[in-house]
Amino acid sequence: MALYNDTVMEHFMNPQNVGELENPDGTGTYGSPVCGDMMQIQIKVEDEKIVDAKFKTFGCGSAIASSSMATSMIIGKTIEEALELTNKEIIKELGGLPAVKVHCSVLADKAIKNAIYDYAMKNGKVYAALEGYDPNEDEDEHDHDVPEEE
Ligand SMILES: [Zn+2]
Repeated sequence: MALYNDTVMEHFMNPQNVGELENPDGTGTYGSPVCGDMMQIQIKVEDEKIVDAKFKTFGCGSAIASSSMATSMIIGKTIEEALELTNKEIIKELGGLPAVKVHCSVLADKAIKNAIYDYAMKNGKVYAALEGYDPNEDEDEHDHDVPEEE
């Protein structure tokens, strides 16, 4: 039984944009409380456009495939466009993830937002999508496998 489709496997076996940038304009990290995956995403910004992105992921195949896909998707996008990227779009682009692995793609979504948040803080930029954003907080729409405490 194949748990992962070909696109996911391809991004897992040959991940794009692995590593670190020399002088990143923004660095975001995020860890999953569910499976212990850790992700770092760095971005290079020129004229409000993401011109490069790199990631380092300590995690399962889905986390690696998601970061690979997510970094590929944001390169060439403006900051505003990148902020609109959701984990659902990452999953769609990957051709689907097993339900129990959906939370791993949330990491990429979060790490990107955190990298942009870092960039915004360092450069005094304000983005509507980041208003009231807390880089350390879990997002409500998380697909956790564990029951949330009320
Ligand atoms: Zn995972």
